[in-house]
Amino acid sequence: MRGHPVTAMHPDHYESPAGLYLHIPFCVAKCGYCAFTSYPCGNAPPPDYLVALRQQAERLARHPMVREQRFATLFVGGGTPTVYGGAELGGLIRECLTLFNFDPEPEVTVEANPNSVELAKLAALREAGVNRLSIGVQSFSDRLLRGIDRSHSRAEALAAVAAARSAGFANLNLDLIYGLPEQSLADWRETIAVALAQNPEHLALYGLSVEEGTPFHRRSEQGGLALPDEETVQEMEDFAYGQLATAGLPRYEISNFARAGRSSRHNENYWHNGNYLGLGAAAVSCLGHLRFRQVPEPERFVRLINDGAPPFIEMEALPPAAAFRETVIMALRMLEGIAVAELAARFGVTPQDYYGKTFVRLQAQGLLAVEDGFLRLTARALPVANQVLAELV
Ligand code: SF4
Repeated sequence: MRGHPVTAMHPDHYESPAGLYLHIPFCVAKCGYCAFTSYPCGNAPPPDYLVALRQQAERLARHPMVREQRFATLFVGGGTPTVYGGAELGGLIRECLTLFNFDPEPEVTVEANPNSVELAKLAALREAGVNRLSIGVQSFSDRLLRGIDRSHSRAEALAAVAAARSAGFANLNLDLIYGLPEQSLADWRETIAVALAQNPEHLALYGLSVEEGTPFHRRSEQGGLALPDEETVQEMEDFAYGQLATAGLPRYEISNFARAGRSSRHNENYWHNGNYLGLGAAAVSCLGHLRFRQVPEPERFVRLINDGAPPFIEMEALPPAAAFRETVIMALRMLEGIAVAELAARFGVTPQDYYGKTFVRLQAQGLLAVEDGFLRLTARALPVANQVLAELV
């Protein structure tokens, strides 16, 4: 039961600049658990895809909805963007930084996998303006990496970190996954210890999720996936969160941990439900209350761009109430939550008034709190965040 309606929506009130996202939907090989839009290409990603991306960037940068928009962050994700060479990827990044209206010191992130980076490529990316690298390490155990079909080894992950430092990257994220098949608490402890020994500025820890349509899902249906039990997974989380806090990487979002000043500005914009523009196959854009989704197939994307046709498959105008709920849910992923005054200014209603009895109940259960004007999940709610957020959808 909802209380007061959403009476306003002021997308322009949210003055933070937007994020620009470029999607590279190719990987050397496909991992067994992967549900992302990515296609295996070995070491030969199609050159025409980058050409099409560049064309789309040129067209969109001139579009009336975009040309006045300020941008603060650029994120090149995938897939594995670094399947492409440093010169071609760096060229595209440099061009985007020129074409769009970027703030003077943008955060520019590239996602990489350990076996697709070497010093020369990373130096080319630094040269192009990339100042943040996110490496998909996942585990420092070769046995576990093989078990999830990763195409790299522990040694390659360590070499990638060393190369990133040599290339001058002072802002490094490592992605790690826990709850892997055959993974023990001791395995995870070792991975956390090795990760912390690299002194990363940022860590992202994800619990393995077995998604429908993946090889892991089929194996799991046939009983062929020996996953750790819930209790072990909980111990893995407790151990990691404690170690990271002690090492100066406190948790700032459900899955993300950072040194002071090193949180991901690009992702923080998503969690604030800010504006973003996505380029490439499967990319999503959200400008004001309009959301666009692009065709997922890279070949179709290239064809449409070459034909001068729009590559969008979906466009929706978010009703104010849906935008309000989405903003609340996204923001509650961050430990600091969101200012009630910001929600009231953007949507003309407070969460207390909008959610009414649901809000009162969640507050009484000690799951939701308003502290210093910020709405946030309590420490008690974090382990069951998905259930709590489901009540606010
Ligand atoms: S590297 Fe990442 S995007 Fe590529 S297949 Fe593996 S999990 Fe998916």
